[in-house]
Amino acid sequence: MELENKNILVVGLGVTGIATAQFLINRGASVTVADRKKEQETDSEELLIRESGIRMEPGPHRIETFENADLIVVSPGVPHTIEPVIKAKERGVPVIGEIELASKFITEPIVAVTGTNGKTTTTTLLGKMLEDSGLKVFVGGNIGNPLIAYVDEEEKAEIVVIEVSSFQLDTIDAFRANVAVLLNITEDHMDRYSDMDAYRKSKARIFKNQQYNDTAVLNGSDSVVRSLSRDILSKKVFFSSKEEKGVAISDENIISQENMSRLLEDFKLPGKHNAENAAAASLAALAAGGTFEGVRTALRKFKGLSHRLEYIDTLNGVDFFDDSKATNVDSVAKALETFEKPVVLIMGGRNKGSKFHTLRNLIERHTKKLIVIGEAKEDIKAELGDIKPVETATTMEDAVFKAYNAAAKPGDIVLLSPACASFDMYNSYTQRGEAFCRAVAKLLL
Ligand code: ADP
Repeated sequence: MELENKNILVVGLGVTGIATAQFLINRGASVTVADRKKEQETDSEELLIRESGIRMEPGPHRIETFENADLIVVSPGVPHTIEPVIKAKERGVPVIGEIELASKFITEPIVAVTGTNGKTTTTTLLGKMLEDSGLKVFVGGNIGNPLIAYVDEEEKAEIVVIEVSSFQLDTIDAFRANVAVLLNITEDHMDRYSDMDAYRKSKARIFKNQQYNDTAVLNGSDSVVRSLSRDILSKKVFFSSKEEKGVAISDENIISQENMSRLLEDFKLPGKHNAENAAAASLAALAAGGTFEGVRTALRKFKGLSHRLEYIDTLNGVDFFDDSKATNVDSVAKALETFEKPVVLIMGGRNKGSKFHTLRNLIERHTKKLIVIGEAKEDIKAELGDIKPVETATTMEDAVFKAYNAAAKPGDIVLLSPACASFDMYNSYTQRGEAFCRAVAKLLL
């Protein structure tokens, strides 16, 4: 791809936008970065990029900048449906995402993971399985380490493993995953997609350019995933969760059913959903050249990631769990299904257009009380308040204190699993989870 002297616009100044701009400038392009949310050019990153000759355009988007570009690269957080992008497209300006751009310069095999939930857990585990198989691996993408940064790295990997979001899939064109994993499709981001069908189509794009000798790893227990598998060209292998922690596989060419069951016996994380993640990662790792022993070692060692159904501490027999990363209803459902004991559930934050009422049966069966926080508290109360008592909290500390008082009995669980984004009160789900942990620590003093 020829980039020299091209007039290229990068939209969105996050970690990925900066990495993309630097990549382009290194190749002799003339680069502008537009970011609607930035008011002024004071951040240290902005200084850094301007010093490398990149032009900044903060504040409201200027249509001319978009229409006059030779190429537009949108960052993962920016919808490709914003007006200036559409206008530029109508004028014939090509619009791609960073994953598409990076993949044009990558020759190593690519393993890509998408789904509504479980992407980061599965991608991390998969990376470790391949490393434990003795391969040099780059792990990145939506996981915080942009793929574009890999292209200029001196040390090359033998295999590239990436997490891809639906927004990133919206802006691929020729990107091809040698192994592609689709974990599940449940309702999420209804603030960004017109309906579920649009969201489903976006996820299905991960298989778009796969060839007959590539592999698609698919969740057979998920009816939405199954429904789109008809259009996939590559070799398909399904994993389907059974009762307990068992997972059935549809095709024993990669691994026998017996060996898959042996692998999962060594895996410690709770819940059927985690067994699905482990099975998906194992199938993808083996399809990509990992070894049985490598996969087994990684499964044995894996302790899970922070803020995903993470055990924090116990006070007078009450266990505290941080599931701050549960920002949609299905991840909360999976958390509730994991517990046998009564749960006091802390929910709330910024509503992403979620249907909280779909949790009614699980709330009925698994919880004793709800503590609601943030902007969505009234919505949650309206949809779930008739089944179990609901108490409102003003801060995380207040929520944890009230939840602990409501738990009262040894054996009860206090769970933060918000079903909402964190941005009404925090900069990220990480900050929200840390606030929860601090509040728990304060109770323990
Ligand atoms: P993602 O990167 O897709 O957001 P994570 O691995 O970060 O996924 O997990 C996000 C949330 O989803 C956590 O609350 C986690 O417990 C839950 N989760 C993990 N795997 C699954 C799964 N397979 N199905 C449903 N929920 C899951």
